[in-house]
Amino acid sequence: MKIIYGIKEIRDLSKSLNMGFVPTMGALHKGHISLIEKSLEENEETVVSIFINPTQFSPGEDYIHYPKTLEQDLEILKKLNVTAVFVPRSDEIYPSDFDITLGVPSLENLLCGVTRPGHFRGVCLILMILLNLLKPQRLYLGRKDFQQLTIIQKMCKDLLIDTEVIGCPIFRDLDGLPLSSRLAYLDSSLRSAVSLFPKALSAIIQSIDNGNQDSVYLKENFTSLIQREESPFYEILYADFYDKETLQPIDDVKKSIFCAALMVKTLEKSVRLIDNIPFEISSYYPQSEKNILLKCIES
Ligand code: AMP
Repeated sequence: MKIIYGIKEIRDLSKSLNMGFVPTMGALHKGHISLIEKSLEENEETVVSIFINPTQFSPGEDYIHYPKTLEQDLEILKKLNVTAVFVPRSDEIYPSDFDITLGVPSLENLLCGVTRPGHFRGVCLILMILLNLLKPQRLYLGRKDFQQLTIIQKMCKDLLIDTEVIGCPIFRDLDGLPLSSRLAYLDSSLRSAVSLFPKALSAIIQSIDNGNQDSVYLKENFTSLIQREESPFYEILYADFYDKETLQPIDDVKKSIFCAALMVKTLEKSVRLIDNIPFEISSYYPQSEKNILLKCIES
């Protein structure tokens, strides 16, 4: 496995590769690994990047303290047999005279964008830079970050980027919570308290499967399940049924994706947890997404 730090080197290598690309911020877990394995299956070569992108952190977020486990990450990637890992230097990606902004105005200020101003602009920027450098055939992103996926699909479509954007299923922990690098911030009691989140999501799935399609009732039920314990430790940032392309709230639950975010407050910091469940079943959103969550909750 090649470990590449420089822009010139990654440009030279990329010219000769037919590749799938998996961008990450490191602190790799099984969620990331599931994306990498999908790319390994579907492409001759796979390149993974590890870069904690400063422009996607809002002021006061955890940029400085974001978990860094590079040695461990490189070991994991070596075992997976990826072709190369790109670990760029921040000052090479963003030189001091860097002066470009990118965004998708109709999508970037909704859902997580309300409380993370500028976040999706930073995500667009770094992915555009990486896509320009690597020119991959396929880009693998997680459906856990559904708004991010939707925005990057739109950016690639509008800018005629010659890369297929592939959304990959959410990899869940045993209690149903999506794996996330930020779960490491939670102590065991908070970790078990937030398992109410997947439970409340599975209650929506069960209600809809039982024929209840009243979006107002379903949302209220979700909120009351999460707030059952009147916990001062978390706050629901949003929870609604959305149209998959416009990210606008819709009432027709069967055509929607339910997305929610929870802000968990620890003594030192606030931790954002996000999750979603699609209700319009298609080859892109198979029934298995719902079944996996239900199974976690049952066991
Ligand atoms: P991050 O390192 O948090 O920027 O994530 C890198 C990629 O991994 C993004 O495309 C995420 O959506 C994806 N990802 C993170 N957690 C999961 C998960 N639990 N299941 C599937 N994909 C994930």
